[in-house]
Amino acid sequence: MYDIAIIGGGPAGLTAAIYARRAGKKTLLLEATACGGQMNNTGKVSNYPALEDITGPQLAQSMQKQAEDLGAEIAYDRIVRIEPGFKLVGEEDEYLAKAVIIATGTEPRKLGLDGEDRLAGISYCATCDGGFYKDKVVAVYGGGNSAVHEALYLSGVAQKVYLIHRREELRAAGDVVEKLRSNQKVEMLLGTNVTKLLGDKKLTGIELSSGKSVELDGLFVAIGREPKCDFCSDLATDGEGFIVADESCTTSIPGIFVAGDVRTKELRQIVTASADGAAAAEAAIKYLA
Ligand code: NAP
Repeated sequence: MYDIAIIGGGPAGLTAAIYARRAGKKTLLLEATACGGQMNNTGKVSNYPALEDITGPQLAQSMQKQAEDLGAEIAYDRIVRIEPGFKLVGEEDEYLAKAVIIATGTEPRKLGLDGEDRLAGISYCATCDGGFYKDKVVAVYGGGNSAVHEALYLSGVAQKVYLIHRREELRAAGDVVEKLRSNQKVEMLLGTNVTKLLGDKKLTGIELSSGKSVELDGLFVAIGREPKCDFCSDLATDGEGFIVADESCTTSIPGIFVAGDVRTKELRQIVTASADGAAAAEAAIKYLA
């Protein structure tokens, strides 16, 4: 029986593990794939205080090492259910814990168009897949910070990058939008939606609500993210499915806490995920006492 089981090994989960172990609690962190979460797909991290020259994977490895050095156990399993008590049921095994911290993060929002899951050439991560598009023509769909950062990244690889957004104004921060506007490789198609994906096995282009068709080698979808927690239906969530909790990270079920991007909140950053991890661990420690 563990004191605290943490589901998810991104910055929220890893920070929770560090705080739980520093308080001497028997701690298990359960991760479905690889620790680090979205940090693993991030190039240079430029807004984590004091670490001016670090990449996402470096920061992830450093957090994981700190948690493990402090004695946190890590098991690789995908949790599918939490039963009262608490019993965490995974695809591989079952785990018992007195308190649970959910830190499962988010996943990319899908287009919902025919062919999205079938066609090669559709991606949700430029730093992961951008390298396949050297000197090719690609488009990024979305108008937030992710879309603009992805388009800037791809402009260093591809021959041409379209930035397609449903409104005339981009939601992304002014400085990066300016960088994008002055980039010769980027063409913006604003006030238009992607309505159809073209191609048989591989994407060859898209149709837009403006009536225009665009020939493409790749489409990068960056239209926001959704909470990733299939087993959270017993918990109170907001209208978009994020788990409701204030900054104490206490959920509607005693003994279950939430941290990071899967919690309802305004700002989703590495630093706010880590802050949640600390708060959730502290709340779990008080609950155990
Ligand atoms: P986001 O800020 O929510 O932007 C999502 C974009 O997708 C918006 O432009 C939105 O359009 C559009 N969109 C949403 N649903 C759509 C749909 N069904 N069809 C077409 N377009 C749709 O998401 P994000 O860019 O992934 O960023 C998430 C958070 O991470 C934000 O807080 C962001 O600031 C932060 N972030 C920060 C950095 C950084 O370096 N500081 C980098 C990346 C992300 P509308 O604008 O019309 O709503």
